[in-house]
Amino acid sequence: MQSSNNNNVKSKREHSFYGDVLDYFSRAAQFTKYPPGLLDQIKDCNSVYEMKFPVRIKNKIKVITAYRVEHSQHKLPVKGGIRYSLSVNQDEVMALAALMTYKCAVVNVPFGGAKGGVCIDPRAYDEVELEHITRRYTSELIKKNFIGPGIDVPAPDYGTSGREMAWIADTYAAFNSGSIDSQGCVTGKPISQGGIRGRTAATGRGVFFGVREALNNKDDLKKLGLTPGVEEKKVVIQGLGNVGYHTAKFFSEAGAKIIGIAEYEGSIFDPKGIDINKLIQYRKEKGSILDFPGSKNLKDRSDALELECDILIPAALENQINSENADKIKAKIVAEAANGPVTPLAEKVLLKNNILIIPDLYLNAGGVTVSYFEWLKNLSHVRFGRMGKRYDELIYHTLVNSIESAIGKKLDQSSKEIITHGADEEDLVNSGLEETMVTAYNEIRETWKSNKKIQDLRTAAFVTAINKIGESYYALGIFP
Ligand code: NAD
Repeated sequence: MQSSNNNNVKSKREHSFYGDVLDYFSRAAQFTKYPPGLLDQIKDCNSVYEMKFPVRIKNKIKVITAYRVEHSQHKLPVKGGIRYSLSVNQDEVMALAALMTYKCAVVNVPFGGAKGGVCIDPRAYDEVELEHITRRYTSELIKKNFIGPGIDVPAPDYGTSGREMAWIADTYAAFNSGSIDSQGCVTGKPISQGGIRGRTAATGRGVFFGVREALNNKDDLKKLGLTPGVEEKKVVIQGLGNVGYHTAKFFSEAGAKIIGIAEYEGSIFDPKGIDINKLIQYRKEKGSILDFPGSKNLKDRSDALELECDILIPAALENQINSENADKIKAKIVAEAANGPVTPLAEKVLLKNNILIIPDLYLNAGGVTVSYFEWLKNLSHVRFGRMGKRYDELIYHTLVNSIESAIGKKLDQSSKEIITHGADEEDLVNSGLEETMVTAYNEIRETWKSNKKIQDLRTAAFVTAINKIGESYYALGIFP
């Protein structure tokens, strides 16, 4: 994963990001039945930990600022990624932690929300230095009881990946020798360190399932002037990192055309569709997406956002669609793969212009969903599918053989392979993810359609989340 850049660091949000999340919360809270005290408890961050720690870098002592915020401990453990970026600050981490609480509730993942951030530019350090920083950050979390399989479980986010998660798991295990569940202290790990197949692609895959679900609903699409289905839809994506790349890949495989890509170094356009795998290879070789054969360079890196298209997918950072460019957005659907890519001021403009926004707190929840599966795998100490796969295959083979002898005809080999395949870990993870994203979309859509005053999917998603968390507090008996 890559780090932020100076422009992102300099770019000021139109409001405080945490303030935006509080505003979204208040807008939705009016459609719920809970008393103000309980709503305050749901909305506020439960624990905020800012830390400073020294690391020796090239024989000098560097003091690093970092955070871990646990937004809601109504369910434990709490969960949320760790971001490495120079733009990390307390407001941002609090906002992202709060979004995690609502996200988990929306997709029925039984965790509270949290988030971590280390204020560094990861590109300024070599691998050994990053390992030192990561291990030191982890030991700070251990000291204050801000990490553990039943307490707080981090994951990758912007600027971090499985590599950092492996260092975190190893540091935690070293401080907790003999704890058999220690692998469950962090998710998004490499497979060899207790990770799960399908986690790396999960957020992008979830984005695809979420948008595909929105594209299934004829009534909603008619209002947008879109036809049902993913095939031939024109898609523009900002950010070709973990989330953006996988999202692009799944849309391409389903027959959509990726007509524009925006990256850190610039943006490109090809109305015939960009071959994503070739582009990734090209970027690896040239260090840039610009001048990719067959496509046209656009003047500015944010120009791709303003292309005429069906679906615009910001998958880089927050604050990308703001009051300066909102009126220039020509997409019919804005699918928030990143966290907070549309500011509240921009949202007003997009909604006025009849653009459907599929909100971040639902759409990028595929990552935390599969992280939940990874945590379950770590606690059960067995790979999904290991116990049943061969047994299922035996039953399916027996069934197919019986059918063949009953009808006196052989099935063709490819159908036979599909029918007799026993589910392995990745099949089960992808199936669980699809079920989660489809169910959650229909839950928030139902909330949206159940009350004419709820005008958008984001408010509906917040209402859905608040209702679930509120019920949880009532069940705990804290607010009779
Ligand atoms: P990443 O670091 O892998 O990728 C981000 C990409 O965006 C990089 O390629 C970077 O060069 C590019 N980028 C940065 N600034 C840009 C700009 N101004 N214009 C165009 N491109 C730019 O990060 P990621 O894990 O893919 O996360 C992206 C977003 O998705 C973040 O908002 C993150 O919080 C959110 N998210 C990630 C996950 C996950 O599982 N990784 C889960 C949920 C949400």
